[in-house]
Amino acid sequence: MAVVDNGREVAAFICSHVFRNERPVLLVSRATGDWMFLCGGSHPSGELPHLVGCDHLFERDQRLREVADLEPNWDAERQSIEGSWVRTPSPAEDAEGTTDAS
Ligand SMILES: [Zn+2]
Repeated sequence: MAVVDNGREVAAFICSHVFRNERPVLLVSRATGDWMFLCGGSHPSGELPHLVGCDHLFERDQRLREVADLEPNWDAERQSIEGSWVRTPSPAEDAEGTTDAS
């Protein structure tokens, strides 16, 4: 699925820092299949993500387009706004109650 689907904007979840333009996007996650653009930092529990159109984020940071083809269940992370994206499979979502065999 492309980020811009025949001109129809695709929605993205973003954290409050990105929403307020306080921090750049350093983590793009499709762990749930949805697009999430996050600062990569920690957030207070119970914080609700903001929902925006992907286009707004791409206008702000052209380099986000480099991960516009990210597949579901994959993450892309970079160390800084100039850093290159590193793609990794998302941690398994259905492995709740982490069976830590000790
Ligand atoms: Zn944040």
